[in-house]
Amino acid sequence: MNETFSAILVSRGADDRQTVARATLSDADLMPGDVTIAVEWTTVNYKDGLAITGQAPVIRRFPLIPGIDFAGTVIASESSEWKPGDKVVLNGWGVGEKHHGAYAGRARVSGDWLVPLPEGLDARAAMAIGTAGYTAMLSVMALERHGLTPQHGPVVVTGASGGVGSIAVALLSKLGFTVIASTGRPAESEYLRDLGAAEIIDRGELSAPARPLGRERWAGGVDAVGSHTLANVLSMTSYGGAVAACGLAQGMDLPASVAPFILRGVSLLGIDSVMAPRQLRLEAWKRLAADLDLSKLERLTTEIDFDDIPRVAAEIVEGRVRGRVVASVPQIA
Ligand code: NDP
Repeated sequence: MNETFSAILVSRGADDRQTVARATLSDADLMPGDVTIAVEWTTVNYKDGLAITGQAPVIRRFPLIPGIDFAGTVIASESSEWKPGDKVVLNGWGVGEKHHGAYAGRARVSGDWLVPLPEGLDARAAMAIGTAGYTAMLSVMALERHGLTPQHGPVVVTGASGGVGSIAVALLSKLGFTVIASTGRPAESEYLRDLGAAEIIDRGELSAPARPLGRERWAGGVDAVGSHTLANVLSMTSYGGAVAACGLAQGMDLPASVAPFILRGVSLLGIDSVMAPRQLRLEAWKRLAADLDLSKLERLTTEIDFDDIPRVAAEIVEGRVRGRVVASVPQIA
């Protein structure tokens, strides 16, 4: 088995500048792992944008095939858990960062990193969800573990027109929450209402430095933005509420006060998708298959060509991608 396949390869020159190019590779170029997969569908997440543009040091070895998530079919396995023909999904574990990633016809990874394609989803739908949607689900599950229910009041979703945000809006509204969507794109108001948002607010209301405590506006939320936005979301969370923090689109800093924690008992719930334990992943994917309205998923998804991935990677870090994108991966070069 040493067929050639197409890949996107990020290299770094002597001047430390990154270059991105289409390459033809073979199995011998892949890294060690006990399972080889024919990659069928992939996507572009914010982190892929940072990796391909080099705007953050996501890629930690060069040259590297980027792409942090894929769905496909096992073609060879030395793992007792997987056999040829199994449909699988991969998110994170350093794939597309330090281990060759999704943007290639083949991937070879540890079998421990894979989860089965959940019943009710095909490979394209799994990548329409992607790491962004799986992170939205992890965030919703964290709010549920905190005990948040629709009876506690509305919830806010920041970065609502983006990938995590769009899927968080769809999931929370399906679960019965009144969803307040914060966006910098008022033109997407109808899109967000269609996904289930009850109210749209301008992200400008949340992007300036926060007061220690603000008016109690929501019982909790999902924050994909960080920085002042997260500080404002916390300061406006009502007594005993909780906010799941999963993103940094505005910034990685958190210029906040402890006032919401010590005066209102607000909880800040950290969400990491990359190293999340297997049991949590299995639960998140099961819940996605059950709780995400597939017609809404289709409406928030744009299909792009494999060759468009570098262009869309640049657009996502500029905040210009709406919802989610999917790309089918060419198998053979
Ligand atoms: P997207 O680019 O699709 O969404 C981000 C959204 O944030 C944008 O669409 C925009 O929404 C908003 N935004 C962008 N720039 C700014 C800004 N300067 N100030 C305020 N809002 C801004 O990315 P994803 O949904 O894929 O990812 C969202 C975040 O979640 C990223 O930071 C990503 O790194 C993180 N993430 C974290 C994971 C984890 O494991 N913790 C896993 C997956 C993602 P709008 O136009 O509606 O305002």
